[in-house]
Amino acid sequence: MFEILKKDSKSKARLGKLHTQNGIIDTPVFMPVGTLGTVKSVSPLELYNEGFKIMLSNTYHLFLRPGMEVIEKFGSLRNFINYKGAILTDSGGFQIFSLAKFAKISDDSVEFMSHIDGAIHVFTPEKVVKLQEVFDSDIIMPLDVFSGPEASKSRAEKDLDITLKWAEISINAKNKEKNNLIFLISQGNFFEDLREKSAIYLSELNADGYAIGGLAVGEDKETMYNMLNISASKLPENKPRYLMGVGTPEDIITAVSLGVDMFDCVLPTRNARTGSVFTSKGNLNIKNSIHKFEKQPIDDECNCYACSNFSRAYLRHVFMSKEIFSQRLLTIHNLHFYQNMIFNIRQSINNDNFMNYKNNFLEKRLK
Ligand SMILES: [Zn+2]
Repeated sequence: MFEILKKDSKSKARLGKLHTQNGIIDTPVFMPVGTLGTVKSVSPLELYNEGFKIMLSNTYHLFLRPGMEVIEKFGSLRNFINYKGAILTDSGGFQIFSLAKFAKISDDSVEFMSHIDGAIHVFTPEKVVKLQEVFDSDIIMPLDVFSGPEASKSRAEKDLDITLKWAEISINAKNKEKNNLIFLISQGNFFEDLREKSAIYLSELNADGYAIGGLAVGEDKETMYNMLNISASKLPENKPRYLMGVGTPEDIITAVSLGVDMFDCVLPTRNARTGSVFTSKGNLNIKNSIHKFEKQPIDDECNCYACSNFSRAYLRHVFMSKEIFSQRLLTIHNLHFYQNMIFNIRQSINNDNFMNYKNNFLEKRLK
């Protein structure tokens, strides 16, 4: 299922291939976020052609809208959204606890109120796996409990016990006849012993891969990297490791050095919609008046469609005029920036030059 092709000699970075029912994914990989089955403002074909062979969607959101009956009619989520690549669906645990109007948790289920129409629903770990089997997701994520960054140790411990119990239920609920993969989610808030306990316990359950959750929720970077390092180092070496919902280019390249293989984050797409763009020399905001007359592209090292064809002045103009086109152009650029970084990361691991690439990349961005 997962092959490690090469390991970096100076860090824990590794180059791999993840086999899914809808294609082989080169890792490290960045998965664009299409919560509702669309990555905002770009087409599935554009994504695929940009080299994104796997994208993310969300069970909680799709369950509420358009609803299971609609997707079931198309045979799979992939058919419904007409994407050629693979799809990982997040369970929606995070959304239930952060978005729903209320979420009442018991040992074996969570009852919540839809943030859309106020309807009451109940998710059990079994049900969430079955919903993702209806989607025919390439990678299924189990329901877990997100207790938030402020949780006390006793609360975190209690939530972790439920998450671990649910992980076991989820892996047993999965239909073994089908080729969907299932990953389990390692949690533990910001407590070193809980992070360890979670990773060790889940490793025994022999999932197809392991996610690391509950990070980048407001903690400082040092804490995040420390927790990430504990989780990653205790998870099985021969399975893919997926850092959920993180992060900046700096976070990703650091996480790769700690042995993480898979990433998703809304940053490239969400930032684009506020005019914020990533460049090889740091981030800039296209709204800024210094760009008003600038003929140069966003990033002279980028060969995306936006940078190959348009000046900062034009991009600023369409952004300030609230033209839809500006969202597209800035999204195309930001996604290309992430993809290009990931491509370079893979190449540098292959050439056993990753730490050099990492240091140069970070130095140039922070200058
Ligand atoms: Zn560009």
